[in-house]
Amino acid sequence: MNVLLLGSGGREHALAWKLAQSPLMGAFFALPGNPGIAEFATCFEGVPLDDHDAIVTLCLSEKIDLVVVGPEAPLVDGIADRLISEGIAVFGPRRVAAQLEGSKLFTKELCKAHAIPTAAFGRFTDVEGARAFVQHHGAPIVLKADGLMAGKGVIVAMTLEEALAGIDEVFAMGGQEGSFRTEILIEEFLDGEEVSFFCLVDGETVLPFGSAQDHKRAFDGDEGPNTGGMGAYSPAPVFTAEMERRTLHEIVKPTARALADAASPYRGVLFAGLMITSEGPKLIEYNVRFGDPECQVLMMRMEGDLLPLLAAVATGRLEDQPVPLKPDAAISVVMATKGYPGAYGKGSRIGGLEAAEAIPGVKVFHAGTRRSGEDIVANGGRVLNVTAVGANVAEARERAYDAVARIDWPEGFCRHDIAWRALAG
Ligand code: ATP
Repeated sequence: MNVLLLGSGGREHALAWKLAQSPLMGAFFALPGNPGIAEFATCFEGVPLDDHDAIVTLCLSEKIDLVVVGPEAPLVDGIADRLISEGIAVFGPRRVAAQLEGSKLFTKELCKAHAIPTAAFGRFTDVEGARAFVQHHGAPIVLKADGLMAGKGVIVAMTLEEALAGIDEVFAMGGQEGSFRTEILIEEFLDGEEVSFFCLVDGETVLPFGSAQDHKRAFDGDEGPNTGGMGAYSPAPVFTAEMERRTLHEIVKPTARALADAASPYRGVLFAGLMITSEGPKLIEYNVRFGDPECQVLMMRMEGDLLPLLAAVATGRLEDQPVPLKPDAAISVVMATKGYPGAYGKGSRIGGLEAAEAIPGVKVFHAGTRRSGEDIVANGGRVLNVTAVGANVAEARERAYDAVARIDWPEGFCRHDIAWRALAG
């Protein structure tokens, strides 16, 4: 099977690493890929992911049987619709179903119509209505702007003053570049522990693919600014078998059924961001792709062949059999360039990658690197994902931090407390 993988991050390197192990793999291409992915696949640089014509041309000339889409933006842009119309199988939902991530309002309305547990909400197009709602409900309360906002569209207001100031801020932003409608979603604050839960979905067939927890803040102790994610581990201890059963039954399966009934079946991986509250799991948000760095830990735990599973999702032939996952734990420590998530330099040399991977159970995924002659150099904010599997979280964590210590990159930093919650529990 000839495969084209879209994307360039640590998530895509983990997918490439796992897919390349498949005996079914034929020619393997990535667009644009990265130096880690280049070990397994021919990487094409210079074709932007929003150039759907160029992607189709590439698929036809290389006789691609399956396109695996890593990030969400091409899906929200309709790359799956375009590929399907050209007769090319694609792992990732069509545009309508990708609204689960692209539009918070779409998801909230779907939850409301199908009684799926989520935070109660109101939606407002006028500042006055929004202010009145906040004054009536009080704090803490959560404000959200619709559309893809790269994680910057949510304000968790702990006081009434913060909430009112946030409303002004959101309406001011909405007027700027028109990147989202000037509509604000105001939600009940959910108290509990957050978990990411992943399922392969092919219409109404839903296969659990494990749970994970990530660390969004830049510094130890969950301090500092928000980032794209500084580390993750799997499984999440708070996500018990009972929580998984309830989440499937109350949240994920009703969502899949609702989309299938509306003639827009979901095909791909569905990432449910959940709050485990005292009443049980509630949906915070959906994403229409694997998490990054959660994907890295899931790939380390998965046993067996990923390729036929993704192909079965893409062609509507997924069988109702569990995804084989090791009972072991996996953890991924993100190494970032000093300064991230603020301004940072590029081009610093990274050494010690082979020594790090010599530790049993360790794999270093490239997230933001570039090759410069014989060297690997930093080329982004989040640069490496030092990932390890072990018999339990403590062993996985020890291996991952031993590997971090072998990486020679003075310009890099990482958190030293990834998985603290799992170890405390
Ligand atoms: P991200 O890029 O992190 O996915 P996003 O812009 O898609 O962010 P959400 O995932 O909906 O937004 O919210 C971001 C974070 O805000 C959540 O991970 C959670 O910590 C917090 N949050 C969102 N909604 C609620 C809520 N109703 N109650 C409590 N916390 C919430």
